[in-house]
Amino acid sequence: MEKEVIQGAIGKYLKEKGFERLSVQAAMFDMDGVLFDSMKNHAYCWHETMKHFGLDLPEWEAYMHEGRTGAGTINLVSLRQRGHEATEEEIHNIYKYKSEMFNQCQKAERMPGAYEVLVKVKECGVVPMVVTGSGQVTLLDRLNRNFPDIFQKELMVTAFDVQYGKPNPEPYLIGMEKYQRWCEGKGFNGELKPNNFIVVENAPLGVQAGVAAGVFTIAVNTGPLPDDALLSQGANLLFHSMQEFCEEWETFFNSFS
Ligand code: MG
Repeated sequence: MEKEVIQGAIGKYLKEKGFERLSVQAAMFDMDGVLFDSMKNHAYCWHETMKHFGLDLPEWEAYMHEGRTGAGTINLVSLRQRGHEATEEEIHNIYKYKSEMFNQCQKAERMPGAYEVLVKVKECGVVPMVVTGSGQVTLLDRLNRNFPDIFQKELMVTAFDVQYGKPNPEPYLIGMEKYQRWCEGKGFNGELKPNNFIVVENAPLGVQAGVAAGVFTIAVNTGPLPDDALLSQGANLLFHSMQEFCEEWETFFNSFS
């Protein structure tokens, strides 16, 4: 990517938000489809589960709903196909079926380029964080196994921290708060603003959440959706893979530091 394109995107963001400069201290990474190549499994399981219950959700469409709660996705499909929302019991059964099927899938691999870019981010003095809607109990162990010496427990936002989830800005706002508290614990007391962060997201609803939180949001299109599905949600920059983001990291970092 041309340096001018990146500088232009940063300039546009600063002008829109009224900040003088991007002064990135922490980078908030989404997990599914960014750090792990797990979206294929999610999309497959959603499609198969819906089919089992007489509902239709094509695999590609599952990518559009990534980040929504299970109940949210089920109700959306039920409403359009049957004209009413699903009952509590249906939601429970459908989501249980999907979760069990997902757990039987082969564990997703680390996304190519993800570890390499995280190492670069950290070396530049930017603190890597995870902000995910996932609520797997073994999340931290799994992250530490796959990304050794990158993440810290106090700097993670998961399903257990949030009430609304993406596309609400809440998860990213909580991420910013957690980072602020972490800094205060280290004796840094300055008030942090959205321009002290970046968001890295693969899903339309995730991009929407990052943008709504006021943060410079980098879309990484690791799935089958057209780029416009992410750009139309307000993504400030788009890369086509984590590898590409990794290759361009220095150009990006040097554009504001
Ligand atoms: Mg994702």
